Amino acid sequence: MNAIDDLTDFTVTRALAALRSGEIACTELVRACLERIERLEPRLHTFITLTPELALQQAAAADRQYIQARKGGASIPPLLGIPIAIKDLLALAGVRCTCGSRILDNFVPPYSATAVQRLLDAGVVVLGKTNVDEFAMGSSTENSAYGVTRNPWNLAHVPGGSSGGSAAAVAARMTLAALGTDTGGSVRQPASFCGVTGLKPTYGRVSRFGLVAYGSSLDTVGVFARTAQDVALLFAHMAGFDSRDATSVDMPLPPLHLNSETNLKGIRIGVPQEYFIKGIQPEVENAVKAAIAHLEGLGAEVRQINLPHTEYALPVYYLIAPAEASANLARYDGVRFGPRVEAENVLDLFCETRGKLFGAEVKRRIMLGTYALSAGYYDAYYGQAQKVRTLIKRDFEKAFELVDVIAAPVAPSTAFKIGEHTDDPLAMYLEDVFTLPANLAGVPGLAFPVGFDHQGLPVGMQLMGAPFGEEMLLRLAHVYQQTTAWHLQKPTEMD
Ligand code: GLN
Repeated sequence: MNAIDDLTDFTVTRALAALRSGEIACTELVRACLERIERLEPRLHTFITLTPELALQQAAAADRQYIQARKGGASIPPLLGIPIAIKDLLALAGVRCTCGSRILDNFVPPYSATAVQRLLDAGVVVLGKTNVDEFAMGSSTENSAYGVTRNPWNLAHVPGGSSGGSAAAVAARMTLAALGTDTGGSVRQPASFCGVTGLKPTYGRVSRFGLVAYGSSLDTVGVFARTAQDVALLFAHMAGFDSRDATSVDMPLPPLHLNSETNLKGIRIGVPQEYFIKGIQPEVENAVKAAIAHLEGLGAEVRQINLPHTEYALPVYYLIAPAEASANLARYDGVRFGPRVEAENVLDLFCETRGKLFGAEVKRRIMLGTYALSAGYYDAYYGQAQKVRTLIKRDFEKAFELVDVIAAPVAPSTAFKIGEHTDDPLAMYLEDVFTLPANLAGVPGLAFPVGFDHQGLPVGMQLMGAPFGEEMLLRLAHVYQQTTAWHLQKPTEMD
């Protein structure tokens, strides 16, 4: 390992300490990330747009601030100089935001998403915008119009999706952390496939302002890093009320106490029977059960619970999400945003632009959603789905009367091969069975590595919490990571 790899191996926590003490300069850290990106990007393809000039400029400014602070004791922003990457579905002012789609190929947002702006205010440095399934519709990052991202643990496999670029970049040590979005699993599933830690917050906890809408009642902004402690650090600076998002919740974030205490006495972990079903890869089941036993060994009480409506989550999600998407995506007509395909009249211009510039999966979702919302079918599909959504939410409410946290697999399998599910949309949708319920119920979920399969691919476990219970999830994962070493493993295939 050379010096550059040493630096890119730093956690956010370690890097902050090193920057504050003057052990390293931010410019060195950012250069190390950029060099690693340059070296690995041709094989992994994790970014759509790189912003090296911006990153180096921010790094130089951070170094000046650190020098000033060391001289005069001036206060410094809490995340000053930490390099991050941003999923290309979140706006960063002045940098193009494609959402993985040709229809936004040249779209440059004039403002930054609130979550992004808050992190910028806290001092982060931006390395670039990461690859994503078109409009976040997918579970493999294969639906991007900008090429496929590869899994750093095995280049023949997908990194998961739709935030696959962010997860792969964190796993490959190209960045210390990254932002993602999770509408049905898009932070947790790629975190699991790439062996990193990823948080999907409670709906309403992090502002959606500046996040390009997919399923507005399900969309959340989340974060990836290599430890729960790092995730907590970033999350604390993204979360909070924002008047520009009508669904943002005005509730103070409790201080995230991730101390070194590893005794879990008094914490009740629920294990839902419905998440250990036939068809799940045995190595996934075994690794998750071993992780639960590990937490039990530290004093937690483990109980079997039931979430009886789990099996309806998939059909309910694949009605509600496409229905919302069909409305949200109506705005891409070649007039207001992005490129257009010229035509004789305005109707042809809409049709040609949408027909040529949307990809196949996006068109499928728009058609599914439009059908579910159409007169005559609305009650039977969309209306019914909303009712069952309430039942799924109630399952969680009842469960959290009995337990503090729910432990389950993230996905039924480890990362599948590139191309394995591309001809079978239903097989791709089935990858989401264990992640969709948390979005339908609006509860937080955290994924982190708990083992490997026989191919050396990471296995993730998911903890789900009561609304606004992120702290509990992060605390448990932190305890787990202090007493195990799975999260310290790193991929070497692409080096
Ligand atoms: N795979 C799911 C879908 O395609 C979830 C995606 C997401 O969370 N953005 O809709």
